[in-house]
Amino acid sequence: MRAGIGYDSHRLEEGRRLVLGGVEVEAERGLAGHSDADVLTHAIIDALLGAAGLGDIGQHFPDTDERWRDADSLALLGQVATFLDDHGWMITHIDSTVSCEAPKLAAYRDDMRRRLAETVGLRPLEVNVKFTTGERMGFVGRGEGIAALAIATVDRAAD
Ligand code: MG
Repeated sequence: MRAGIGYDSHRLEEGRRLVLGGVEVEAERGLAGHSDADVLTHAIIDALLGAAGLGDIGQHFPDTDERWRDADSLALLGQVATFLDDHGWMITHIDSTVSCEAPKLAAYRDDMRRRLAETVGLRPLEVNVKFTTGERMGFVGRGEGIAALAIATVDRAAD
């Protein structure tokens, strides 16, 4: 069994959609980025790649590549799950934390868990999503951006 960590952060900007864990969240501002800037899904992708020893999200989906402009990060997560499977890894568990001052995200939690779990072939109980704030400190606390942390565990798939 192996574990990997992932971390990501994106800036909040006017005129962008806010997508977290593949779910569109009602908000005045959204995250800026080359793809849909789904910071939670990006942290999970890095945790999975880390657990399997397969590099990081920037190596597989460079933000200089037009193919990934406005990309649906859930689709990228699906590709990463397939990539791990190709390398003989079975995903067993994901835990994550989103650090966001506003809006409140609790109402979206079950939807995020279900969408993320479906995408990687787990059950919602095996994909935990937690929320915290920056307590008005730092870039999260000032509402400048949102950060996410994730840990994933993988096991060798049976032959
Ligand atoms: Mg990112």
